[in-house]
Amino acid sequence: MTQSPRASTGDVTRFVRPDLLRMAAYEPVMPIETLAAGLGVPVERVVKLDGNENLYGPAPGALAAIAGYTGYNIYPDPDQRQVREALADYTGVPAEHIVAGAGSDELIDLLARALLSPGDRVIDLVPTFGMYAFTTAVCGGQYTPVCRRPDFAVDAAAIAAAVDERTKLIFVASPNNPSGNLLPAEDLNQLLALGVPVVVDEAYIEFSGGSVVSMVPAHDNLIVLRTFSKWAGLAGLRCGYGVMPPRLAEVLMVIKPPYNVNVAAEAAMLASLAERELLMSRVDAIIAERERMAALLANVPFLRSWPSSANFILCDVTAGDAKAIRDGLRRRGVFVRYFDKDGLRDKLRFSVGKPEHTDALLAALNEVGHEPRI
Ligand SMILES: *Cc1c(COP(=O)(O)O)cnc(C)c1O
Repeated sequence: MTQSPRASTGDVTRFVRPDLLRMAAYEPVMPIETLAAGLGVPVERVVKLDGNENLYGPAPGALAAIAGYTGYNIYPDPDQRQVREALADYTGVPAEHIVAGAGSDELIDLLARALLSPGDRVIDLVPTFGMYAFTTAVCGGQYTPVCRRPDFAVDAAAIAAAVDERTKLIFVASPNNPSGNLLPAEDLNQLLALGVPVVVDEAYIEFSGGSVVSMVPAHDNLIVLRTFSKWAGLAGLRCGYGVMPPRLAEVLMVIKPPYNVNVAAEAAMLASLAERELLMSRVDAIIAERERMAALLANVPFLRSWPSSANFILCDVTAGDAKAIRDGLRRRGVFVRYFDKDGLRDKLRFSVGKPEHTDALLAALNEVGHEPRI
């Protein structure tokens, strides 16, 4: 009552961590409604090949499980018992190794928060997925990009040279986004031999095979991240998990938000795993479509595509401007990914959907190719 209100603080941002005030926002893909509204066309007309999403949608059983679930008034299980058991069955690695999260993005965040003290080093093998850099910055880590070779293979010698006693994490996506190449076993073994935690992000592994998840129990510095966003069509529900040494999983289970996996996500994950055969038949269709898309892209005179083990294809733009082509495709209702990042400004990434999406992309590319001055 007698206490005077605190003096005006002025600009509240002077209380914010100065490094965060300087931080650039993550550049996400635009919502489909926004894309459609910008073009003045209905949502169904948009061909969305910019987010590596699964255009077949979720498993019917996952949709039914969410619709039929009656426990929405009750909090989820903070120990994720059912989900971790189901994931143990799917991965073949015991549940004590597994932590589920709101997308694998949350696992990236939890790992950084568990392992990084301010100034600790994170090695990122660029060009790659943007979340590793983003999360390192949010957690006050020292971001250390190490360039991949011109063919996007990792450069084990350069990585070894960058590792020091403050290095806490090495992130490596396999298949890599946006290049689509897998990490060869020899390279992984060289990284593991450095003795630093190595995070192998297998977001696209269902499209390639060759998971290293079975190696986790034999290594105390291997962490594998997986997601339902791509193969199972649940990107919007945020369903991911990490497979790691049990002692590290225990730490993540302690520091995670207790209810990080909501009950709808949990129900959808369980139902998707129960319907994995159907989902994998769609994955097979996407793989076949990827190869058909690659064959068609070979006939586009201004593009050269990279081989891909994922559900997207990265192309060099060999004549014309990549961003202008992106814009030309966008005007025709086809959305693809352009990255304003070193090493990628002459490239475009096309997600693989159904055959009709490939056909729409190729038709739009053909039109754009005939525009003056691309
Ligand atoms: C899409 C993607 C993910 C998926 O993240 P979620 O948070 O699970 O949706 C993770 N890693 C990479 C490399 C990706 O491209």
